[in-house]
Amino acid sequence: MPKWPFKDVKRLIFVGAHPDDLETVTAGSIYRMVQRGVEVIEVLCTDGNIGTHDTRKFTRASLARTRRKETREAAKLLGIKTVVFLGHDDGELEPSLALRTQIAQQYRLYQPDTLMTFDPAVDGHPDHRAVGRAAVDALIPSSMPFYQPQQLKNGVKPASIKQTFVFGGRPRSKQAIYVDVTDLWQMRLQAMRAHHSQYGNPEFNFDWLERWMKRQGKAAGVKYAELFRKL
Ligand SMILES: [Zn+2]
Repeated sequence: MPKWPFKDVKRLIFVGAHPDDLETVTAGSIYRMVQRGVEVIEVLCTDGNIGTHDTRKFTRASLARTRRKETREAAKLLGIKTVVFLGHDDGELEPSLALRTQIAQQYRLYQPDTLMTFDPAVDGHPDHRAVGRAAVDALIPSSMPFYQPQQLKNGVKPASIKQTFVFGGRPRSKQAIYVDVTDLWQMRLQAMRAHHSQYGNPEFNFDWLERWMKRQGKAAGVKYAELFRKL
């Protein structure tokens, strides 16, 4: 049985690219943290405004509005009180200095002790790599008072994040950290379904997600597991 890896976490900042990233990859761990009194701040870099094939039903702007609303609904289910949208366009995220600055500002405003984000070393969606890179690259500058000093007005202090967990890697690596989410499977699906524009159809099949979480669970010796690596 894997050991609970988040015992030192009091305030967590999750930095993702798309409105459903948290629910898809980490919902079980996040929910359990909230149950244990951890305050979670969810920062999303894009509004997921290309996430549909139904170009008759949505415009980019209406899809962005819909997806923000869905994100708040899912956050409520999971007990996340703070959601921050940085408002970038889906599919066009770059690990730019501007993005680094924006993320650093969130570290300073919310003063989390722990960061959770995509593993920047893992291939996959370009927005995921970009957000992981920018979030990790913001760690050191955000802690330095001469970096973007205009952010440090009105009592805002440099950030002091003590630990970082990344996700998106493969199971069975030496550094793999598992969280048993077997008893949270229904909760996970419920949080996914809050993203109606993506998974609202009751016929929608979550076999892909089940295979993914089972593969990680198998490596952890449980049915379903989420997978992290500590930086
Ligand atoms: Zn995503």
